[in-house]
Order: sequence, then structure tokens, then C-alpha cells
Amino acid sequence: MIPVAKPALIGNEKRYVNQAIKDGWISSRGSFIDLFEKNFSEYTKSKYAISVSNGTTALVTALKSLGIGNGDEVLLPSLTFGATANSVISVGAKPIFVDSSDHNWNMNIDDIENKISKKTKCIIIVHLYGLPCEIKNIIKICKKYNIFLIEDCAEALGAKYFNKHVGSFGDVGTFSFFGNKNISTGEGGMCITKSSKIAKKIRILRDHGMDPNKRYWHLEAGYNHRMTNLQAAIGCAQLENIEKLIMRRNEIQDRYHKFFSKKRYYDFIRTPQEATPVNWLFCFLLSKDFISDKKKLLKYLMDNGIETRSFFYPLHTMKTYQFDHSQLVNAEFFFEKGFNLPTYYELKDREIDYICFTVDEYFQKK
Ligand SMILES: *Cc1c(COP(=O)(O)O)cnc(C)c1O
Repeated sequence: MIPVAKPALIGNEKRYVNQAIKDGWISSRGSFIDLFEKNFSEYTKSKYAISVSNGTTALVTALKSLGIGNGDEVLLPSLTFGATANSVISVGAKPIFVDSSDHNWNMNIDDIENKISKKTKCIIIVHLYGLPCEIKNIIKICKKYNIFLIEDCAEALGAKYFNKHVGSFGDVGTFSFFGNKNISTGEGGMCITKSSKIAKKIRILRDHGMDPNKRYWHLEAGYNHRMTNLQAAIGCAQLENIEKLIMRRNEIQDRYHKFFSKKRYYDFIRTPQEATPVNWLFCFLLSKDFISDKKKLLKYLMDNGIETRSFFYPLHTMKTYQFDHSQLVNAEFFFEKGFNLPTYYELKDREIDYICFTVDEYFQKK
């Protein structure tokens, strides 16, 4: 079976973890934490980087650090992983779902403006599947209405916009290091920000809300959202290879795309000039006339040893998130068209070719 994703533990991961164990620093203090934060901020060219326990707690901490809570509304895309909305709900705010753009699966600028109300405090943009959003226009909206911007970069570490790392445009940028992300620490996350005030707040929030200068004195009811030194040890090793890891992901995309680009069943999105995406998971879009084949095609691939992943269900279609009954036609359309093909560092060219051949074989046979 060819899995859809797999971490690439190809460098000093084992050595650094052993070092942490040898030194006895296995909990949430230790030199790897400081080093991982320092190297992450250098890589993303952000002023402050604060490690946290995962990508969801990164979002929760970010929202809390901006003072978002009860009675506030937060705009976010419907087409995203549930954690983006769960984080909003868990701080007591209300998620308001925004449709996808006409051109790609990211947020629709017009629909953002439609959904803004007096209660809107923040927009969370998600650079879904590694594709940067229209950040420039979104920043304009945030300035116009005086609302905060959080960038959920869980799937987009390494992606750039006007040659700057995603995550460095908003008030806070959040990252995930879950096993299938561009780099992994098992579980883990990071917040980046250019504001010393927000950075300080995030550090306090992740550590039970304690005053950094007065232990066991709680400035607020915080969380334990800390990363461990063991996770950070893996993170340091992963960051040493990040250029290589990202380059291979993009090569994989190019190889798939080259094979499929002339096929009538295949559709794809055009990348805007200012965006430099990262191919987190290769996105295959079925062209309009072949949408009804999705289920059968994915089963055919599974029967031939190829794991795939459907696009995320648009969140507004689930009972859990049904606060209104709006229809978001673009999000639903991209969901129907899209699925992901295996994308990971160790995936071989001949395996990619086998996957391409098997997809094509399905359409030949039908
Ligand atoms: C993975 C992911 C998250 C959550 O990250 P975890 O580390 O799994 O908590 C949040 N948002 C998006 C878009 C993701 O893909």
C-alpha cells in the first residue's frame, strides 16, 4: 500500500532525541526548545516564534492572545480542517464560514466582506494545501474594519507570498507539526508574530497563565500548551533538512501535473504570480464532466494499493457547525472535485508513475 503521507525522519532526529534523553531534559524545558524556536524564527524571518503542543493549541493561544472570546465573531473558510473552527468555538467565539474563491479553494474576498458584522473581531485565513491566500486584499479588509488577522499555516510551512513566508503577514501565524505536515515533531505547533506584546502574552498563556517573573502567580487562567524538549529535538533535526523536504514535495507535484495536464478528466488551479506555494498534498481536481467518478476512482486506486484522501468536507455542511443555513457553492464545488494523491519525501518516481498510470487506467476502462 502506498500511503497518502508519511514523515521524513532522514537526518539527526534520533541523535537529538537520544541527546535529550541522555541529558534528562524530556519535558517542556531544555535547550532544544530554545534552539527550535530560534531556528524557526530565522527560517520564517519572523521576529518571535513560540512553540506550542500542536497546531490547534497554536490557534487557541493565538485567539486568546488577541483577546477574542465570548460574543465575538471570527471569519474563517468553510473548506478547511475542523480544527480551525474548533479553536474558535473553544475560546467561546462564533465561527462564521466564508465561501471559497472562484479561482481556487482558498477564501473568497467578496464573501469575506459580506460576512463582516459589528461583532467581527478576527479573520483566520487558511493557506489550504500549501497555497497562499490573497493576503494583500485580506490585509486591506482587516485595516478597513479594524480586525485582527490570524494565518493558519498548518499546511503551508515554506510557502511564500511576495517572497515573504506565510504566517508573517498576520498578527499571528500558526503552524502544525503533526505527522503528515511539511515537517513533523510527532505532535507540535508554533506561533509566530512580529509583536513583542503578543509574543509575551502567548508565552504566558501556554504556561498556565503564570507570571514569568513570579512563579505560581497567575495573571490569567491559561493553559498547558507547551511543547516538550523531545519534540523540539525532532523539530531541530527536521528544520536542518527543510529545503530538501520542500523541494521534493514540489518535484512530486511537477511530476504528477506533467502526466495529467493534458488529460480531459483533470483540472487544476493556476497559481497567482505573487504566490509561491508548497505542495503539501498533491491536489487532483476532477474536471466538471468527471465529478461523478470520484467515489469509484478512489475505490479503484485503493484496490490497487494506493491510498488517497478526499478534500475536506466543507464545515458548514456538518450539523456540528450549522449555525446558519447558508450555501457556499464554491466550497462545495471544490470539495466535489478534489482529492489528494500520495505526497511524501520518500515517494519514488516510479511509484508516482504507477499512481498516474493507475488513475489513467481507470478512465481508459470506463
Ligand atoms: C493540521 C491542521 C490543523 C491542526 O493541527 P494539529 O497539530 O493537528 O492540531 C489546523 N489547521 C489546519 C488547516 C490543519 O491542516
